[in-house]
Amino acid sequence: MSGDQNDISLYEEGLLKHVCPRCHFIFKHSTYPVACTNCGLVGSGFVTFGFYPNIEAVDILYSVFELRKHAKSKQNEIIKKIVFKLKEAFNRDYDFSKVDALLGDFIDIMNDPKNLEEDSQRRINAIKVRLNLENEEQSEQAYSIVGSGDNINRLNKSIVILCASLIEIMFKEYMFKLIEHRTTKFTAQKLADMLKHHTVEGYLSQIDVFFEKGFKTEMNAFQSGFYDKWASLRKNERNKLIHKNSIHISFKKVEEVIALAKESIDLFSNLSNSLISNAQ
Ligand SMILES: [Zn+2]
Repeated sequence: MSGDQNDISLYEEGLLKHVCPRCHFIFKHSTYPVACTNCGLVGSGFVTFGFYPNIEAVDILYSVFELRKHAKSKQNEIIKKIVFKLKEAFNRDYDFSKVDALLGDFIDIMNDPKNLEEDSQRRINAIKVRLNLENEEQSEQAYSIVGSGDNINRLNKSIVILCASLIEIMFKEYMFKLIEHRTTKFTAQKLADMLKHHTVEGYLSQIDVFFEKGFKTEMNAFQSGFYDKWASLRKNERNKLIHKNSIHISFKKVEEVIALAKESIDLFSNLSNSLISNAQ
């Protein structure tokens, strides 16, 4: 990872790639002059021809990294405040990671609720374990500090929704490239019109017919495990969050989702390139 992750350069990170104007191959190139790693074309046309992902996706990616910067500093601020209040209450120093993990425990309990009494006891137990407190009374006191509504990182929701959108944009773009490649521009356009108002699940049920072993197998051949992690992002994090709030998602989960979004750029550029390699 180059430099400070807070000030990420999409190009240096390999998240912004060139698209060859001649063979449409997508590639990362950090030396000059830029040359296509597929057909060898060298030239200035690369700058004007374009980059991958498309501008809509790049806008989202920048927003994700900017928001992450703020979310990270908010998370640090929240934890610092809790650590300070715990020190005030128990005259003990707690490290960031323990408090961060405890906030994660609270969110896990909220996302898997039993009943009020049991959930309250589960939180008390988590406090006891993470903070190594001596008795129930101290745990109750810590509960009022850690469980406060001020400890919610309210930027988490936007980041997760943006990452899910980013992956969707790249997936849909790839899907139409695939259909155009396997059928005709006309058929791809017809299918695009037909699917316009469908969810990703609708698209996925269509794309399967183009692969003997299904799209999941195709995806996993390029990036093992991505398909299931993406399915979980759509079904759990994103859909839950549309109806709920940041209170249901930990900062750790946000980091996982950002990592998946970054992975998706390599994945969909590789999938797109596989169409070109097959064509030649
Ligand atoms: Zn080329």
